[in-house]
Amino acid sequence: MIKKGHEFRVNLVIGEDDICLFCPHLSNSNCLKKPDSEIVLQKKEQKIVSLLNVDTSDTVILSVLYEKMREKFTLNMLDNLCSDCQWYSMGDCKKGFKNLKKGGFL
Ligand code: SF4
Repeated sequence: MIKKGHEFRVNLVIGEDDICLFCPHLSNSNCLKKPDSEIVLQKKEQKIVSLLNVDTSDTVILSVLYEKMREKFTLNMLDNLCSDCQWYSMGDCKKGFKNLKKGGFL
């Protein structure tokens, strides 16, 4: 969990990220979880980066990113973007997002 007050910088990327590095589905910088995973993920990530108006070549202070997410994202958008993820049904992402919208953190 990333707690409030942490002002470190993050870099949004399209494609392979730091989490993927330890995933068995990653091969040659591509997600092979399903035949179309890499294409689907890249399209979603492009949409998110564009909605947040973030340049992937820049680092962003986490609190600034949180503010953009509060402003630009709705729960419906999160459902549309993430409902096919295996972790989404566990509810933690939705719970974190609701907390973020109330001024909290993920
Ligand atoms: S399933 Fe794909 S997108 Fe998810 S962590 Fe593994 S390689 Fe990355």
